[in-house]
Amino acid sequence: MNTEFLLRAAQAIQEAILNHEAEIESLDREIGDGDHFINMKRGAATVVAMHDELAALPPDAVLQKIGMKLLSTIGGASGPLIGSFFLAMGKAVKESGAETLADVARAFAAGVVAIKTRGKADVGEKTMLDVLIPVSQAFSRLAGEGAERAAVLAELKRVAEEGMLSTRDRLATKGRAAFLGERAIGHLDPGAKTSQVMIHAVCNLAAHNK
Ligand code: ADP
Ligand code: MG
Repeated sequence: MNTEFLLRAAQAIQEAILNHEAEIESLDREIGDGDHFINMKRGAATVVAMHDELAALPPDAVLQKIGMKLLSTIGGASGPLIGSFFLAMGKAVKESGAETLADVARAFAAGVVAIKTRGKADVGEKTMLDVLIPVSQAFSRLAGEGAERAAVLAELKRVAEEGMLSTRDRLATKGRAAFLGERAIGHLDPGAKTSQVMIHAVCNLAAHNK
């Protein structure tokens, strides 16, 4: 995973978020306060606009700069969570590199642990972690088994989709939706939806980037 890939991933994520505007908007209007799409759109635009500043940096510094910037630009609960994901991922890449699939899986896992710690949440609470934790577990397992890259990417997309759909019938115990109690049942979590959309975009990019 090099800097060029990260910059292209930022663009792919921005496109994917914009393409899912209506769905993401309506989810946070139903069980949140309606700002999740705007928050994510602003975050993606900010990162894409950092292109020239990031292009000459090594990948660990790119990830850390993105993390710092997102902490201050995405509002809401998701800003600090996503910011800390990139900071922790950057730190892991600095320590162990990002040459192999196993390195990238390890860095992704470090990012997910940072979200869990910061948000004091775990799988099953109807948040973005219902996508990120199972994806991270599958990624580490498959990379450890030495699975083919194309098979890993396809499986991560499938697990992300399954995790996103699993939030529909869950009671929320973290985030704003927790205030709704049973009324949140039947609605997908917006952060889980954007996480799935972003993972799909990055996996599709990686699949075409031999
Ligand atoms: P806010 O909830 O402050 O309006 P956003 O609308 O941008 O912020 O983000 C909401 C999303 O953040 C939720 O859909 C959920 O996925 C995620 N989220 C909220 N609280 C937590 C938490 N403690 N841990 C993990 N994710 C969380
Ligand atoms: Mg919101």
